[in-house]
Amino acid sequence: MYTTLKEVTKKAEELNFTVGAFNTHNLEMLPDMLRAAKEMGSPIIIQTSVDTARYIGFSVLVNVMKAICDNEMVDGVLHLDHARNFDDIKEAIDAGYTSVMYDGSHLPFKENILKTRAVVEYAHARGVSVEGELGTIGGTEEGIHVAEDDKVYTRPEDAVEFVKATEVDALAIAIGTNHGQFKSKTEVNIPLLKEIDSVVDVPLVIHGGTGVKEEDYPELINNGIRKFNVGTELLVNWTKMAKETFGATEVNKSLRHNVIPANEAVEKIIKHKISLFMNVESPTNLGN
Ligand SMILES: [Zn+2]
Repeated sequence: MYTTLKEVTKKAEELNFTVGAFNTHNLEMLPDMLRAAKEMGSPIIIQTSVDTARYIGFSVLVNVMKAICDNEMVDGVLHLDHARNFDDIKEAIDAGYTSVMYDGSHLPFKENILKTRAVVEYAHARGVSVEGELGTIGGTEEGIHVAEDDKVYTRPEDAVEFVKATEVDALAIAIGTNHGQFKSKTEVNIPLLKEIDSVVDVPLVIHGGTGVKEEDYPELINNGIRKFNVGTELLVNWTKMAKETFGATEVNKSLRHNVIPANEAVEKIIKHKISLFMNVESPTNLGN
């Protein structure tokens, strides 16, 4: 069913797994993303940037999500990623998104609390979940770049105060990951994650998941990560495959011949990620 971040992360907490949050960039790849989750028997979070939501249409995305979640009997959440503007958040909630992220991580601490709190009040009154962010995640996303020197790790004592004051449903933390990282891999600060997890009781969120080594996943999941964002890897591989197929196509050949292989590349990655996110010991090949 079409559900909320709060519901799926609650299940993940009870069964000690993490829910994959995958960015979609167009409508084409969306059905295959949800089918991947269905086949793996996992809930899934589909997230969009504000710009992608505007490109496709907020309510178009909501209606497509609802239809596929119902038809395929898969638990799906539609989440607005990294919104910094109240009007965008309101538009998403009013259109039927079930989860939003207010990213006030660039603001002074108190301002982040106050603005996140305002979003929580609007969202919770409408049954919508809210993710907040504390600390700064490195890298570049949607044109916003955070330099290596400007990265600030989340401080556990801030996390306690932030969660209490805002009542967010999930907290994105900065423990060394970077947006857009896919060629190299990052060193995540596991001791810091453990410390944060021991003092706050909301689900924790990893951004820039493409840059996290797969062998680190169990440690992250066992220490409270309940939403795991993967965007770049899907984008890169969809584009690679599309370049290949479109580069070789006859111009009068049906588009689906060129788009389906790109969608399937995304589906394959999502299945692989979910198999790891389920956090069960298995002899599956971890290499990718
Ligand atoms: Zn992010």
